[in-house]
Amino acid sequence: MNKGLLLVLSGPSGSGKGTINQVIAEDPNVFISVSATTRQPREGEQDGKHYYFLSKEEFESRLSTGMILEHNVYCGNYYGTPKKEVYEHLEQGHDVILEIDVNGALKVMKENDVVSIFIMPPSLEVLEQRLRGRGTETEEVVQQRLNEALTEISKAYEYDYIVVNDNLEDAIAQVKAIIVAEKCKTEQNVELIKGVLS
Ligand code: 5GP
Repeated sequence: MNKGLLLVLSGPSGSGKGTINQVIAEDPNVFISVSATTRQPREGEQDGKHYYFLSKEEFESRLSTGMILEHNVYCGNYYGTPKKEVYEHLEQGHDVILEIDVNGALKVMKENDVVSIFIMPPSLEVLEQRLRGRGTETEEVVQQRLNEALTEISKAYEYDYIVVNDNLEDAIAQVKAIIVAEKCKTEQNVELIKGVLS
């Protein structure tokens, strides 16, 4: 059985990557990695579903015991990908999506075979409207996230694909198309070719 694809999906806060991910995850072959974080849960967020919400001490303990694949400090909080779940799902042939920030993504790209997608907002103005419209963050946090967005967008060159999220349906279709195309790559189908020839 082929191993699954490891996909890294990044984009500034408010780019809509979470919503895109939720739709992609409806495919039972896709596993969205649930990250650990030390930030406070937002209204409606559930532990173990949206994030594993951990104390700083617990996060640092998991870091020191090698349980975290990559991590980053974003706006004063730790965020990290639990290692075991990701590798288990890949071994089972599932595609795994890591929805992580650019710094974490660059680390994962260096050390693993990944397909990386950057979700781009149509403009900074739209991004700002979306962040404010969410109404979940203080003004200070909105400003921090906008600053962070500029840094993240400047690193978009490092990604394999750019998907502009102007229209959600189109963006979802594009991400799905990327996954299909990646699965059709020759390197993903070497065993299949051998099987047909044998
Ligand atoms: P939020 O607080 O909006 O849920 O997430 C803030 C940022 O942290 C987002 O850019 C999100 O993609 C990123 N993030 C979430 N989980 C992880 C993770 O496991 N590792 C890294 N490096 N970034 C993450």
